[in-house]
Amino acid sequence: MVRTRLAPSPTGSLHVGNARIAVLNWLFARHHGGAFVLRIEDTDRERTVPGAEAEILEDLRWLGLEWDEGPGVEDGGPLGPYRQSERLALYREHAQRLLAAGRAFRCYCAEQELRAQREAALARREQPRYSGACRELSAGEAARREREGRRPAIRFRVDEAGSVVVEDAVRGRVQFPASEIGDFILLRSDGVPTYNFAVVVDDALMQITHVIRGSGHLSNTPRQLLLYDALGYAAPVFAHVPMVLGPDRQKLSKRHGARAVSEYRQQGYHPDALVNYLSLLSWSSPSGDELLERGRLVTEVSLARMGVADVVFDAEKLRWLSGKHIERMPLEALVDATSAYVDRERFPLSDAALAVAVAAVRSHLSTLSEINDHLEPFLGTLDAAAERARDALRSEERAQAVLRAARHTLGTLPSWEEAQLEAAVRAAGEMAEARARSLYEPLRIALTGRPHGPPLVAVLFVLGRATALRLLDEALG
Ligand code: GLU
Repeated sequence: MVRTRLAPSPTGSLHVGNARIAVLNWLFARHHGGAFVLRIEDTDRERTVPGAEAEILEDLRWLGLEWDEGPGVEDGGPLGPYRQSERLALYREHAQRLLAAGRAFRCYCAEQELRAQREAALARREQPRYSGACRELSAGEAARREREGRRPAIRFRVDEAGSVVVEDAVRGRVQFPASEIGDFILLRSDGVPTYNFAVVVDDALMQITHVIRGSGHLSNTPRQLLLYDALGYAAPVFAHVPMVLGPDRQKLSKRHGARAVSEYRQQGYHPDALVNYLSLLSWSSPSGDELLERGRLVTEVSLARMGVADVVFDAEKLRWLSGKHIERMPLEALVDATSAYVDRERFPLSDAALAVAVAAVRSHLSTLSEINDHLEPFLGTLDAAAERARDALRSEERAQAVLRAARHTLGTLPSWEEAQLEAAVRAAGEMAEARARSLYEPLRIALTGRPHGPPLVAVLFVLGRATALRLLDEALG
């Protein structure tokens, strides 16, 4: 069974870069009817931000990327715990195994010595590597250091000969000379595992079959492969997807319009648009279609269709897709979702009025919060420019005839409902012998102060009888 995972560090809420990795792993698991696991990589205590884990969970839920195992799932799942901070004993055990097999050794070098060596290597323009100082330490030497009160880190022994080959599902075969790797730390002297060690222990024990992650991690993969081998675990399939860049081809950041997932949520982007767009950053549909529903993404996702070239984030396209997904929402769901974004102080509309207004302007919404840019014409308050346009109607004979007729047909309506309003406007047109623009324009200007805008019947309905009739009276000279 296919098992994928997202392994975020709780250093902040989910950013689009990580969300993209979540989308790919989720889609791939769903495509194969497998499991998607959430694991929190929280061993770096200094960088862990309180509350970040909860935010990540909330962001994933909003995106609709439900996970099968991990924090937030009842009982977590069969292969937990799913937070690294709760798995320290497992890392210790595995480190012991490697020590016992002679694949790892205790290293007593002090942090300052190591730092000095690293800096000296960098100054010589060499790749910093562990000196090997504790590699062959005798038992007596080790005991002496223990007596000095030094606590050892545990290092993995890496042979210098040959190379490590990564068979990447996206990038193909990538070879790393073993001599560049150097003996690396598994457990720090305080017992905290390094990323490369913890990730292997966890992915192995959680039976992860496919690791889909950013290409920034490709250079970590040879270390991880060595560990799989030394521990006797089968390595998963690795798929390293390209970096996402801003339009200036620099690393993606806020200034490119790329934001935290929570910001898109607050602005009322459609979550399916994010899932759709973040998918397109990595692979494309064989059909060439760009607007893709979740079901199609699940059906069509494929590692074979993922490219190796870096991709450029296009904030405009994401916005466009959001509009398209909003357009496809059933009206009731759209009204429901939009209602949370309406500025109620500016637009104190009843539920029924809001539903009609939303239906009237829905094709203009790229995000739900934009609803507030479109409700003005439904308010019945005219600004100075609108009043001037309205006043100008008073000296237009044909406009006055239309307004008089509409005042009559609307004023005598038994109830204020859309079908009746429609008929009343039509009847007014017949009375005043006006059609199309010569009918609608004076009415729009009288009611909103603008010659264009949302459908007239929707405006009349939302304004309500009293306000609509008052506005018509004010436009009649
Ligand atoms: N915690 C790591 C990260 O967020 C996980 C990397 C991995 O997928 O192996 O970058």
